[in-house]
Amino acid sequence: MRFSDFPLSDTIQSNLNELGYQNPTPIQRQAIPEILAGRDVLGAAQTGTGKTAAYCLPLIQHLQGKARPAAAKVRTLVLVPTRELATQVVDQVRAYSKDLGLRSQIIVGGVPAHPQISALKRGTDILVATPGRLVDLAKQGAVQFDELEYLVLDEADRMLDLGFTDTLNSLLPLLPDKRQTLLFSATFSDVVLTLATIWQSNPTKIQV
Ligand code: AMP
Repeated sequence: MRFSDFPLSDTIQSNLNELGYQNPTPIQRQAIPEILAGRDVLGAAQTGTGKTAAYCLPLIQHLQGKARPAAAKVRTLVLVPTRELATQVVDQVRAYSKDLGLRSQIIVGGVPAHPQISALKRGTDILVATPGRLVDLAKQGAVQFDELEYLVLDEADRMLDLGFTDTLNSLLPLLPDKRQTLLFSATFSDVVLTLATIWQSNPTKIQV
């Protein structure tokens, strides 16, 4: 199959063409239709399988018809374990959503918070963040989740391994119950399955 078989907009298709992507990878073939249909997805996928595009493309498709959220508010939150991954994900988001007018933003620790707080004032379609700094900014009200519709937990097993369990637990009560939640992990260990039970609602399981 080809990307053109998916109901993704002409702009997204032309961005994929420019990147030279023609055929979706296995995780993309399975996850994209489920995410487009609005279902929660629990995906077991290693780095290098194309998992980032598997969640970014359908979320960008969902977002392109929506108004940008108000100041400090966020429509989509992508949580990742490390700064490096956050940078890679936001680069992919920007390449796939080129010419769609979506605002994407990165929030990570280890750099001054002030520029991040200012950037959030313009409203964010897609926020890619590491958990620690995000929770700090949420406690100050610099980022607000009442307009959140989509949540991604990427490399969930690594977030738990790096000790983010309590930070994630403190974030969950701030999020709307009605949302679409996508969880990706290299493995489905017991702790990851427990996380999925708490954060997701009747997810479609995908293993590649
Ligand atoms: P990921 O597993 O998300 O880290 O992606 C691995 C790499 O594969 C990234 O550099 C992507 O840009 C690239 N990629 C993702 N999907 C495709 C595809 N369908 N065709 C070609 N390259 C892809």
